[in-house]
Amino acid sequence: MQALAGESVVVIGGGIGGLSTACYLADAGADVRVIEKNEQLGGRASRLEIEGFRFDMGPSWYLMPDVFERFFGDFDRTPSDYYRLTQLDPHYRIFFKDSAERGSADDTSEPGSRAHGDRVDVTPDLERTKEIFEEYEDGAGETLERYLEKSRENYEVGMKHFVYEDRSRLRDYLDLDVARQARGLTLLGSMQDHVENYFDHPKLQQIMQYTLVFLGGSPKNTPALYNLMSHVDFNLGVWYPEGGMKSVVDGIADLGRELGVEYDTGRPATAIKGREGAFLVETPEGQLRPDLVVSNTDYAHTEQDLLKPEQRGYDADYWESRTYAPSAFLLYLGVEGDVDELAHHTLVLPTDWEDHFDSIFEEPAWPDDPAYYLCVPSETDDDVAPEGHSNLFVLVPIAPGLEDTPEIRDQYRDEILADIAEHTGTDIRDRIVVEERFCIDDFASRYNSYDGTALGLAHTLRQTALFRPPHRSKEVDGLYFVGGDTTPGIGVPMCLISGELTAEKILEDRG
Ligand SMILES: Cc1cc2nc3c(=O)[nH]c(=O)nc-3n(C[C@H](O)[C@H](O)[C@H](O)COP(=O)(O)OP(=O)(O)OC[C@H]3O[C@@H](n4cnc5c(N)ncnc54)[C@H](O)[C@@H]3O)c2cc1C
Repeated sequence: MQALAGESVVVIGGGIGGLSTACYLADAGADVRVIEKNEQLGGRASRLEIEGFRFDMGPSWYLMPDVFERFFGDFDRTPSDYYRLTQLDPHYRIFFKDSAERGSADDTSEPGSRAHGDRVDVTPDLERTKEIFEEYEDGAGETLERYLEKSRENYEVGMKHFVYEDRSRLRDYLDLDVARQARGLTLLGSMQDHVENYFDHPKLQQIMQYTLVFLGGSPKNTPALYNLMSHVDFNLGVWYPEGGMKSVVDGIADLGRELGVEYDTGRPATAIKGREGAFLVETPEGQLRPDLVVSNTDYAHTEQDLLKPEQRGYDADYWESRTYAPSAFLLYLGVEGDVDELAHHTLVLPTDWEDHFDSIFEEPAWPDDPAYYLCVPSETDDDVAPEGHSNLFVLVPIAPGLEDTPEIRDQYRDEILADIAEHTGTDIRDRIVVEERFCIDDFASRYNSYDGTALGLAHTLRQTALFRPPHRSKEVDGLYFVGGDTTPGIGVPMCLISGELTAEKILEDRG
């Protein structure tokens, strides 16, 4: 007999974590219903379709393919049963705004060298990347290899001990294997210091640190432990699911259907009452009465808006005092013609990006000289834009909670498009045929996110692993949490794993 046979579960929120845990719980025999406030499943990984353009609204980097294989493998499936993957080459392109150190004028090498303005292509060819590193700093090619070797070790230990195993006590982190790996890593130091130990050139430091943006942190506030992200980026590769990230969402939702999960979109939860075995989940369409509830909404929203004060594990001061990952200013642009200077993934970085991080974490303000990201999936996929057009998504990380008005958006939009033209040579200003903007207030209203954060709780040292809010509610038996605010944390792969960890907790408690 299956462990959860006869149990009913309502999952509130159809983001990656909610969809993942629904699969595990249904597979264990539970009767699972996912209720999602928005019109589609996927949460931050939603899709916006306008006039033949299909935009991924949030995640666009398919990283850690091993995690997706394991997820589908847990149900005797593979990702290829649901979507098709292509490895990107280049993985991504970086334009440095300061081109002072570009290659000499007679350098005629391919794009990817520094000959065409100061830009770098990171490709699956590590030898080529090492040569590029050498151009910036003598010996940096070999150093990159050493760095990546360490990063690989940390990834392997990190995934085993920190990510797939949910350790809730500090002493669990100090077991021999972990401690051995931690020596020499200065696990708890900052990424800034860690990278400086290897590379002197500021641009090389940036290349090694940009992945922190995926974790919602800055080089100063993210622990060195996360250097494992370089293994993810350089060694495991950057992939693209045909149709965009929403194809992954659809795949997970289809798997859930096959396992018996039911989905209600356009159905928000407005309150969670009762307790294990006798819950009441209020919705405008009537009450649901499950035995167990799993919430995939932002943790603060469930605690502050759906539970009564005596049911909350944390008070308002707790949420007020957290460090939140950035929000984002997003432009979804349908563009006539090509944008050939841009790769599928392109980063545009000021040489000194400290001011930008300060404007997110220290003195919140709209950044004057931002570091930003451009995504052009139409470089890889013909189906995401009408023929003869490009699909371009612009993402500028900004502090959550900033004033967000139509006038500010207008002005910022113009500044960013001018910046793109200046630093990438791609002027799209008179070729835009479709345009949507998405910013702080939209994150707050569409996803109920705290202060409009795009990603949730940042991965600072004090908000990593056992210091993140737990899967089990502190006050309400039978109420669980899943998704980016709990462990292991932010990102599509992490939220998939979060689904597995939450289901494990439920099985332990009911077993
Ligand atoms: C702009 C952007 C770019 C990103 N880029 C990447 C990337 O390239 N690669 C990557 O791996 N990750 C990326 N991420 C991060 C990744 O998308 C998230 O970490 C992940 O998708 C979050 O999943 P989740 O399980 O926390 O659920 P969420 O996506 O947060 O979904 C929660 C769901 O709960 C719903 N909800 C809220 N309140 C209620 C309610 N009261 N009742 C019912 N439903 C409710 C919301 O509508 C939402 O659908 C990006 C995120 C953003 C925003």
